Amino acid sequence: MSLVPLSEATAAVVDRCHPLPAVRWPVRASCGCVTAVDVVAAEEVPPFDNSAVDGFAVRAADTSGAAPDAPVRLTVVASVFAGQAPSTAVAEGQAVRIMTGAPMPAGADGVVMVEDTSVETADGVETVSVTAEAAEGAHVRRAGEDVRPGTVVVAAGTPLGPAHLGVLANTGAASVEVHPRPRVGVLSTGDELVDAPWPLGPGQIRDSNRVMLAALAERDGYEVVDLGRVPDDAAAIEAALRRGAATCDALVSSGGVSMGDADLVKAVLDDIADMEWMQVAIKPAKPFAFGVLTARGGRSVPVFGLPGNPVSSAVSYELLARPGLRRLAGHRNGDLVRPTTAAVAGADLRRRPDGKTHYVRVRTSRGPEGDLVVRPLTGQGSHQLTALADADALAVVPDGSGVACGDRVEALVL
Ligand code: AMP
Ligand code: MG
Repeated sequence: MSLVPLSEATAAVVDRCHPLPAVRWPVRASCGCVTAVDVVAAEEVPPFDNSAVDGFAVRAADTSGAAPDAPVRLTVVASVFAGQAPSTAVAEGQAVRIMTGAPMPAGADGVVMVEDTSVETADGVETVSVTAEAAEGAHVRRAGEDVRPGTVVVAAGTPLGPAHLGVLANTGAASVEVHPRPRVGVLSTGDELVDAPWPLGPGQIRDSNRVMLAALAERDGYEVVDLGRVPDDAAAIEAALRRGAATCDALVSSGGVSMGDADLVKAVLDDIADMEWMQVAIKPAKPFAFGVLTARGGRSVPVFGLPGNPVSSAVSYELLARPGLRRLAGHRNGDLVRPTTAAVAGADLRRRPDGKTHYVRVRTSRGPEGDLVVRPLTGQGSHQLTALADADALAVVPDGSGVACGDRVEALVL
């Protein structure tokens, strides 16, 4: 079987993953979700003219010529706090004490900062000496300056961040139409697998992939369903996949997709899911199976069959499963695959030609010129997870004999 370039494999996956049907979701719970429609502002922000500082609302013309050696005296006729409606207008020669966020009183067209004033009281009359001119509009935040009603405040396809939630709350929205977070079922396959803390028997190893893949999906904002450990048995694998598909939007399995006699995930997917199996031209993570199961109600559930070697599992999650899951979550084309960053090799990244792109576990730092410098970690075997745990990027080393120290290399920053 010939090796498929990663871009082709990713395209095949992404093509068969479709955004989950939109739901109306509380704004408070939608951080990380992707909007399904344009959100149009119903209200203006700010909702009224208000003061940007603590000070005195004045008629700007009254403060003309005010300076430390030529203060202008105004009569303080009222105070207005945030949350109040001003009841007293400002007439010529008058000022209203105003707090940040309080509405501008009628008649006033500027604010003098409290730092440019001093207050005196004589015979029960309060006056303020103003030592700086207030231009018209000074320190006034205008109604609608941030958002005008009827404008699109968040476009369809936007991954919502905390500030977007603030914007939505600002315009009075309590809920928003988004693609739901995919529910991702995670399972591992292999007769040799044991969960901590049980002692290992002969030939047994611990299941590291399941907890790691679950954490990767959680890191990406998805809801994870632990589908457990499944033995190398076709019926058990089929049952686990069908059970998972009944409640999940996507399944991620590890193990059983390479060329061995016990690599049954591939065989089962071939039987029950419309499957594509690929040998992807990457190292680690060459074997990869992908299928779409039809669950009850005709729902399509993508299944990502990742290889069992732990580093391969993690890398193929990043390179192949993640773009598909992002598509389910509503991310748009162009925002599915992690972009690479230009970097400089801080040491030789030697390799032999083998038709594959190598993803080398590296640690990044900044060079003297501010360049991103990558250095390979010790332990590049696909079973050696510690180097991946120490890595903060993967250097993308194209087919050939490698990259020499000081040469350019692309890095996938994790
Ligand atoms: P497989 O892809 O099933 O052929 O597995 C490849 C290698 O990864 C074998 O050495 C397995 O023992 C190992 N392996 C498979 N699944 C896991 C897992 N969940 N955790 C750790 N290692 C695994
Ligand atoms: Mg196996």
